Amino acid sequence: MPNPRYLTKSRFKLALDCPTKLFYTRKSDYEDASETDSFLQGLAQGGFQVEELARLYFTEGVAILGDDYNYDKLVARTNVLLEQENVTIFEPAFLVDGLFIRVDILEKKGNKIRLIEVKAKSIDSESHDSFITGKGTLGGGMGAYLYDVAFQQYVIQQCHPDWNIKAYLNLVDKSKKTSVNGLNSHFKIVPNSELRTNVAVTPGLSKSDVGVSIMAMIDVQEEVALILNTNPIQSEKTFSDTVNYYRDHYANDIKIESPIGAQCGGCEFKLDNPPPGKKSGFHECWMKQLPILKPELGKVTTAIIDQPKAWDIWFKPAKNAISENRFFTSELTRNDVKDDPGAYGMSRSDRQWLQIEKTNTQDNTVEVDIENLRLEMKSWVYPLNFIDFETCAVAIPFTAGMRPYEQLAFQYSHHIVYENGRVEHHSDYINLEIGKFPNFEFIRALKKSLDHNEGSIFRYHNHENTIVNVIYNQLQVSSEIDKVELMAFIKTISHNTGSSAGTWSGNRDMIDLQKTVVNYYFHPQTGGSNSIKAILPAVLESSEFLKQKYTQPIKDINLTTLNFEEDHCFLQLDNGVAVNPYKSLPPLFDGVSNEDLEEAIEHATKEDRQIADGGAALFAYAKLQDATISEVERAETRAALLRYCELDTLAMVMIFECFKELIE
Ligand code: SF4
Repeated sequence: MPNPRYLTKSRFKLALDCPTKLFYTRKSDYEDASETDSFLQGLAQGGFQVEELARLYFTEGVAILGDDYNYDKLVARTNVLLEQENVTIFEPAFLVDGLFIRVDILEKKGNKIRLIEVKAKSIDSESHDSFITGKGTLGGGMGAYLYDVAFQQYVIQQCHPDWNIKAYLNLVDKSKKTSVNGLNSHFKIVPNSELRTNVAVTPGLSKSDVGVSIMAMIDVQEEVALILNTNPIQSEKTFSDTVNYYRDHYANDIKIESPIGAQCGGCEFKLDNPPPGKKSGFHECWMKQLPILKPELGKVTTAIIDQPKAWDIWFKPAKNAISENRFFTSELTRNDVKDDPGAYGMSRSDRQWLQIEKTNTQDNTVEVDIENLRLEMKSWVYPLNFIDFETCAVAIPFTAGMRPYEQLAFQYSHHIVYENGRVEHHSDYINLEIGKFPNFEFIRALKKSLDHNEGSIFRYHNHENTIVNVIYNQLQVSSEIDKVELMAFIKTISHNTGSSAGTWSGNRDMIDLQKTVVNYYFHPQTGGSNSIKAILPAVLESSEFLKQKYTQPIKDINLTTLNFEEDHCFLQLDNGVAVNPYKSLPPLFDGVSNEDLEEAIEHATKEDRQIADGGAALFAYAKLQDATISEVERAETRAALLRYCELDTLAMVMIFECFKELIE
């Protein structure tokens, strides 16, 4: 018998996003990109680990396990437990009138109920006041979470009108430090497991093993009352009307037609060239509405729908155009990109217009502001130093004394380019020691490596500057004997535009190579992205020098390496087209491709930016903090990390070499 079509928490959330999605969800013939990513997203967000940790603080809690899709059985088991006067239940199930929910933690004392939703999102409990803004709206990026809790309270209240329900968000508290070494490793992420959460908790783990709580119980009764009473994100309808509308349409499998627009850019039901038996919800929506909105198009075909879209332009300048139903890049004009006179090099609007023009004319040639690039490069001091960090910031810390999401810098790589063209992988550093806070050793090693010369230092984007500033603050409150020296070093290679630590701009302040790209270089192949993963294939594709050089073995190209064989070639050509060198690296985490990990992080950071910039390496680091990992696996992962980070700095060198070729 097919499962009943109940409106659950996740379906309610989906409908708030776009009600049409209710029609496509859970149908095997419709592609759902979010479903295939769910394990990796869980991994990236750390939500399940935090859920397991939170449960440990409720020592009397009873879990409702198994039969995930037998709603009646789950509810029956919940009801048996609820017969007790006082009880705490994990994952209790409630079903009423076509609405079904499971609650993370429910605490019942008579008819007094605490409804607790656990999230890996962090909060500073010492400064938190309310999620309601001065204007009476929901703030702090918490709208979706709070609607989720409000929906749960609404359903439970329908089931038990006599209950007095108070709602809470149980969040990770940045103002607290863990008192336990190896806390994170008690909650191991296990891919492809039978476990609902993919998290294996150390057998027998109890509250006393996890030390001081790093969780904050945030009372959200006011926020939930605001939602239930005024339904702020859809105020034209009451909350219950909204719920019933979604419930009825979902139950009867009736599509709610939502207007197509900018929100379709991230639609998970988009599938290009669906194979037989598969459908693309996105194309269904557009095939139906486009002829009505734009009759001038005549017969709408998939090819028309698949034209490049206005929302793909860098920094999304064309919101107005999209709201006027000018969805396609071909419909944009220069007026759709705001001029930013005064900008140095290529301005933002220049790049946006270049992207539009080159997309429309299918011009795949590179655009470079040679004169200004040459001027900029003249100011660089040889030998040039390229550095890249691998860091880890996760919800549940690894070592005692650390706060949730506190940054750990465990690895760097350092390439040097000399004026005569010689490229040296000068040093790298990696610290995977279990339970060891690596940051101070890391900065000592980095200082030693960069003290080797007085040349310019390059980073790619802001991460390296952010991290050394974090370490500066950590040193400030530490008792490291050389902290004054290390802090002075950090000031020389970084800048701080104003914080409690002060304001400075070092005489060797790291040069942001990404800024150089943004100011002077545009390649249509990047689709407007300036990330190193997008720029590297573009420079490899456009530079004959790079193709010629890096298709040769390391030993023949005046390059040294610390982690690759001397006869390794960084670049392969496939029918003359450069193959991304990252593709030849082994996976960093349990057979999941590095690309998939990076993509999962990107998805996760869109929802919650807390692990931003961690990269695929953070999973490998987290895994190696587990003492039960075999020596073989440890050695393999370490070697993979070293190669990965070496390629990160070599990629910067390649971008530099491409620029050098251009100006010469
Ligand atoms: S294509 Fe647009 S309207 Fe259709 S389901 Fe996706 S987001 Fe909603």
